[in-house]
Amino acid sequence: MQDEQVTVIKKKRSVFNIILVIVTVILACGSIGLFIAPQIAHHGYADEDEFQAYADQQMKETSALPATKSQLMTYDYGKKQSIAIRYDPTFDEELAVFRDQRIRDIEKEFIDKVSKHKDEQAAEKERRLFDQPNQNVLLIDTAVYETGNGARTIAIQATEYLQENNLPVRQDSTIDTWLLADVDNSAIKPVQVLKVDYKEKAASYIQEYIHTNYGDGRLSEDADSYLTPEEQNLNKFVMYKGTMTFFFDEGTVADASEGVVSVEVPKSYMSEVVRTSIVKRVIDPNRPMVALTYDDGPGLDAEKRILKCLKKYNAVATFFYLGNRVKQDKNDVRLAYSIGCEIGNHSWDHSDLTSLSKKQIRSQIKKTNKAIASVTGEKPTVFRPPYGSFNDDVIEAADMPAILWQLDTLDWKSRDAKQVFNKVKKAKKLDGKIILMHSLYDSTAEATEKIVPWLQKKGYQLVTVSELINYKKGEAPKAGQTY
Ligand code: ZN
Repeated sequence: MQDEQVTVIKKKRSVFNIILVIVTVILACGSIGLFIAPQIAHHGYADEDEFQAYADQQMKETSALPATKSQLMTYDYGKKQSIAIRYDPTFDEELAVFRDQRIRDIEKEFIDKVSKHKDEQAAEKERRLFDQPNQNVLLIDTAVYETGNGARTIAIQATEYLQENNLPVRQDSTIDTWLLADVDNSAIKPVQVLKVDYKEKAASYIQEYIHTNYGDGRLSEDADSYLTPEEQNLNKFVMYKGTMTFFFDEGTVADASEGVVSVEVPKSYMSEVVRTSIVKRVIDPNRPMVALTYDDGPGLDAEKRILKCLKKYNAVATFFYLGNRVKQDKNDVRLAYSIGCEIGNHSWDHSDLTSLSKKQIRSQIKKTNKAIASVTGEKPTVFRPPYGSFNDDVIEAADMPAILWQLDTLDWKSRDAKQVFNKVKKAKKLDGKIILMHSLYDSTAEATEKIVPWLQKKGYQLVTVSELINYKKGEAPKAGQTY
């Protein structure tokens, strides 16, 4: 009997012990909850309302985009990630489709990042325990600006936060901008709304601004390399009635903690490089087109005359330049580029490339690309071997689309404007053809003055070589192929 009583007492004790353990665990959990809860409330968010307030606050702190008239915030609150987007509620429907597609791409990329985030699984468990949303946030800020000269710039800034220790931690902020023509929302290049020397002009202002306003360790170590007047440094901007704001992604010009850096260049400063109206050509894929090409420039009197003629008729051509001539004749290169002509590579010194080693060929091509890019800010996308002379080694070593021709005017042989013009006039089915000429001869310039208006009157659109290939083959010119 006694033994039995003892057993009962022991059982009662163990039940008491279990209760004690449970109470202790509950108390401990509670205090952990109390410890974590204020942190979430303070820095992150615990529900939809808190997320909205959090997103508003962060948008205010991170946005680098100049404000537009009316802006609307939308919130997509979720347990795994939450997304807030700000945009102008009303404008062109086509533009809205374009903008929304970019937004979808950014969202998709972010959701993918969240799913691969190392804290995700642990976070998921904690979320279930405390019924908290994950602290993964995507902020998208967008705006559209009228340039005032026939175009619009659209800017999208994306700032990402990933959960670390139950808090949203800012990872990265990037901006992309696009220039679209008012008339048809076609993509346009900066030089269509700005004169070619806008880069030098903007860079000199930005360099001074950055060095005056970002001192004492706020700049990145290689800040100056992002401030040179090159297109790749100045390709993110918005323009509104003459004023321009340039953007530099997080961690480029300034230390990453500074976020995206924006510099507003005043209208008074930019006015002389802003075009009064955009230089535009609209290509109709259903109408016939030809590509005039001129070799052996730049810098000859005949070429100046050819450029003047192209400008007069709002036409373009492709110029295959020799690298060793580019430096001393920068202005012609600039003019050709600024009126929308395509600039191609015609080797450094007009060597017959088939007589050179692969290494020598590469050097001829690279040196020339570099010389041209130093003037236009853009590397040539096509090349033409001198004398049209090539073999497999040339094509492989050049590593650029090789452009030949379908109609040779023999302008170098006849040196006679009338004969050159007749070659074009008598050719059958010019649609889709590349026409070979040389910017060396006055007779060719004279012929051009007849050919351009004649072609336009016949209904031909004058396009660049790359445009021609794009429209006729349905794809951009490819390295390793001849056309
Ligand atoms: Zn040549």
